[in-house]
Amino acid sequence: MTFEPCIGCGGLFVAVPNGAVHRYMDSSVACWSAFNSLSETLELTAFHALLVDVYASQHPGVPSNQTINSVAIHLMVLYGVLERGYKPEQALWLRTRPGRASSIAKHDRFHWLPPPSFATSLTIADVIAGATPSERSRLLEVWVKSVWQAWKELHETQVAAWFEKFVMAERF
Ligand SMILES: [Zn+2]
Repeated sequence: MTFEPCIGCGGLFVAVPNGAVHRYMDSSVACWSAFNSLSETLELTAFHALLVDVYASQHPGVPSNQTINSVAIHLMVLYGVLERGYKPEQALWLRTRPGRASSIAKHDRFHWLPPPSFATSLTIADVIAGATPSERSRLLEVWVKSVWQAWKELHETQVAAWFEKFVMAERF
C-alpha cells in the first residue's frame, strides 16, 4: 500500500488515485473520502456537530472570498464552543450568525488568516485509526481541540474580535 500525505491537513492516507474533492477545501482525494464516510463510523456524541468546522479549519485552501469566509466562520464556531462555553449543539446557530444580512457586504467582513502548522494536530487519519466507534468519537474531540489550539496560538485575538462583532452583536 502506498501512503500519501493530504495537502491540507498533512494526514497520511492510503493513496486513492481518482475521485472527488471539495471545491475549495484543498485536500487529497483519500482525506475528503475519509471525511465523507466518518460519520457512519462514530458513536454519536456532541462533538459530532463540529465535524465540518474542524475539517474546514484544517483544510483552509488558498485565499479567495469563499475560503476567507469559510475559515473565519468555522473558526468562530470552534472558538464559541471551546473558549466561550457554547454547546456543540449550538454550532448551527453559531455558523449562521455571521452570514446575516447587513450593510457590510459578505466579502468585506473577514480577511485571510495565514494558517498555522498542523504538525502537532491530529488529523482525520488519526480519528479513523481508532479501533471502535466510541474510541473514534473520543479521538474526534481530541482532533477538534488540537486544530483549534493550532489556530489559537496565531489568531485567537482576531477570531475573538470577529466573534464579538458578527456573532454576539444584534446587528453589524
Ligand atoms: Zn486532509
